Amino acid sequence: MADPDRCPGSLRLHEAADGWLARVRIPGGRVSSNDARVLADAAEACGSGLIDLTSRANVQLRGLGADAAPALSRTLTGAGLLPSRPHERVRNVLASPLAGRDPRALVDGALLTAALDRAICAAPELAALSGRFQFAVEDGSGLMAGADADILLAAVAPGEVELVRTGERMDVTAGPVAAVAAARAFLARGDGAWRMPPHRVGKRGHMTPMATGSFLQADGRVAITALVPLGRLDAAQLRRLAALAPEIRVSPWRTVTLVDIAAEVETAAALLDLGLILDPDSGWRGLTACAGVGACPRARLDVRAAARTRAAHRRPGDPAEHWSACPRRCGLPRGDVRAVTQTDTGIDADGHIVPDLPAAVEALA
Ligand code: SF4
Repeated sequence: MADPDRCPGSLRLHEAADGWLARVRIPGGRVSSNDARVLADAAEACGSGLIDLTSRANVQLRGLGADAAPALSRTLTGAGLLPSRPHERVRNVLASPLAGRDPRALVDGALLTAALDRAICAAPELAALSGRFQFAVEDGSGLMAGADADILLAAVAPGEVELVRTGERMDVTAGPVAAVAAARAFLARGDGAWRMPPHRVGKRGHMTPMATGSFLQADGRVAITALVPLGRLDAAQLRRLAALAPEIRVSPWRTVTLVDIAAEVETAAALLDLGLILDPDSGWRGLTACAGVGACPRARLDVRAAARTRAAHRRPGDPAEHWSACPRRCGLPRGDVRAVTQTDTGIDADGHIVPDLPAAVEALA
């Protein structure tokens, strides 16, 4: 494969307007409280202290120095967050934020995700996958059934999974080996493709968003999910989250799920105090924006400030809405989404060209 894949990682940084950016892969979106503290410290020591949650449930550290990669990789390696340098950009595994805790599950998605991650890192040739190639684990709860995945391992019976693309069924313990074999076969085609073609089975890319609020775990404890407005945390917020639970799960919907909670009321209050959203009817739900002014040189509109304005006006049931500071529309989600885009002639508010933000807010009402 030539090397057109510029997907960033923690060793290969991406230059943005606010400095360099590192993307740290977090298989299954699982971040222990210790990992969270390490990431918060690294975000401050190497960069601006800002941490973004990505649409693939990874995290990005922003505002890094151009020479930050060696120090960052030492820190991540020491914490176990970089178990294989050659595979650092290909450990892309989506899983339910409730994996291993969900009474609806047919298999333990947390154990399966960890085993799949180990299997990927143990296969040297898989380091040649693009940084966009996606694995996913569906534990039977249905949350990941529509994941935008190249290789999906889906539970079909207690202790049994299917490699969805081929229909091959197996004991859950054999799933990681089968997934790695499928990825190996894809690479063996040698056609330079970054991803597999969409598969006719499943609803790739159309997942039901993670619900916010409390969820009763199989063990009687509680998991609490909160929306992170525009998917951005600062280091202080991440440290405070780390103090609330032994493990945090990030999701493609820019939520954080705190698992194994005993003190539900106090924890929910602490999340609200952090500025996170628990209300399922919040205007923040379904609202996204590109990196925007200060983070991207192409930006011609402060879309993050605009989104804050829109959050106050949006009503429950409004369609998803994405603000872009230029016509590239980075991060535009799939599906039924109102696109609001800064263009050369004004703001394109879902098809209506208007001169400014107040007019855009009015046009979207
Ligand atoms: S949509 Fe335009 S302004 Fe926004 S991040 Fe992409 S290139 Fe930058």
